[in-house]
Amino acid sequence: MTRYVARSLTASKPLGAAFQQIAPGTDTYSDDTGIDWIAVERAVNGDYDPQLLTVDERHAAVLALANAGLSELKIAAALRIEQRQVNRWKRAPLKPRTPGKEAEVRQLRPCGTRAAYRRHRARGETPCLACKRANNEHITQWHRTRAAA
Ligand SMILES: [Zn+2]
Repeated sequence: MTRYVARSLTASKPLGAAFQQIAPGTDTYSDDTGIDWIAVERAVNGDYDPQLLTVDERHAAVLALANAGLSELKIAAALRIEQRQVNRWKRAPLKPRTPGKEAEVRQLRPCGTRAAYRRHRARGETPCLACKRANNEHITQWHRTRAAA
C-alpha cells in the first residue's frame, strides 16, 4: 500500500522540484537543519524505511510530499505517521537544529552503524566497509520484513 502511493507519486511528478521548494540550494546534506536529503528522498520513493528518518527528516518529507500535492492521508500512509502530525508539520517551517545537541548524538555512533554510514555520506566520504555492511544489512532486513508482511 505504502509502496503504491510512493510509486505513483514518483511516476507522475518528479520530486526534485518539491525538494527545491522547501530546501532551495541544498545538496545532499543540510548543515543548517541536519537533514540527510538522500535519506528523505529515498523514503519518499519507498526505497527506505521512513521510520528510520530523524524527526526533522520526516518533517522535511511531509513538506516535500505536501508540495507535490499529496493529501494528508496519503502522506501519513507513505511516511507511517499520524495524519494529525502531518497536518502540524505541513504548516510549520523546518527549524534549524540546535547546534551541539544533534552533533553530540551523531558523534557518539561508532563505525559499523547506520548512523556512521550516514555520517560518512554526509561528509562526502566513501563509507568504510563496516559501515557499508551495517547499512546493507539494515536494508536487506527491511526488505525481508516487508516481503514477509
Ligand atoms: Zn565507518
